[in-house]
Amino acid sequence: MQIISKIESIKAQLSLARKNNNTIGFVPTMGALHKGHLTLIEQAKRENNKVVVSIYVNPTQFNDKSDFARYPRILDKDKSLLEYILDENDIIFAPKDTEMYPEPDTRIFDLHELDKTMEGAHRPGHFNGVAQIVTKLFDIVMPDKAYFGEKDFQQLAIIKHLVKTLHYPIEIISCKTIREDDGLAMSSRNALLTDEQRKNAVLISQTLSKSKDFVKKIPLQEFKDWVINQINTNPFLETEYFELSDSQTLHTIYQWESSKEIIACIAVKVGKIRLIDNIKLFV
Ligand code: AMP
Repeated sequence: MQIISKIESIKAQLSLARKNNNTIGFVPTMGALHKGHLTLIEQAKRENNKVVVSIYVNPTQFNDKSDFARYPRILDKDKSLLEYILDENDIIFAPKDTEMYPEPDTRIFDLHELDKTMEGAHRPGHFNGVAQIVTKLFDIVMPDKAYFGEKDFQQLAIIKHLVKTLHYPIEIISCKTIREDDGLAMSSRNALLTDEQRKNAVLISQTLSKSKDFVKKIPLQEFKDWVINQINTNPFLETEYFELSDSQTLHTIYQWESSKEIIACIAVKVGKIRLIDNIKLFV
């Protein structure tokens, strides 16, 4: 695999690959790779002749400066993990900030209210930053297929919206959330948890999983309160939001009858570390 940091050089490589009828699969990441990322990359590898993995911690999507500062950056370790999956035909694109933002990006995206709830409401500017970097990367890589995880469910919906409204000829492939053996959703931020925080964080996925038994059996507000209380009674955890939305439109649901397939999304603070997870509820 090749490691490229310059836009002009990856564009030249990919243009040649396209001329030779290669299909290009793209997996954007912020590095600190784990099995969740690797599963996306393996799928991209199976479905394309050439795979590009970008590793870039995008500053414009961080509303919290200390979250950006502490985000794990372990490029050498990432490279060694990727050596097992990628071959000489594939590319790691790891640009510097000056390459991606030679000047500030002032673009404001109309995300059709998809950014007004959940992560969007709690992380102002986050999804505009995601839209800035993803469109820049799409313009550079021009992949046939791009792979995103359902772990970031709202992000996935926003990317599908961007591709549709900006007419990108890219197929967006969504991939299931990969979990640790005890159920905790894999995340680069898990590495920042202390052992004790890590042990207690499992309550997030356990509670979501248990909540399935109560769908439609109790009023929706009671259901939400139950989940939040379960988590907040643990001294290590504090729920930031727990929202139920239609999985297609992402419109907030106030009654069970309003949707056939609900996506229940949660954000929880574990000390200073913020983790997100979600579960589909079939009504
Ligand atoms: P990140 O590096 O956190 O920006 O994630 C890069 C991509 O990997 C995004 O599309 C994420 O949704 C996806 N991803 C992260 N964690 C997981 C996971 N546990 N399971 C599946 N996909 C994931």
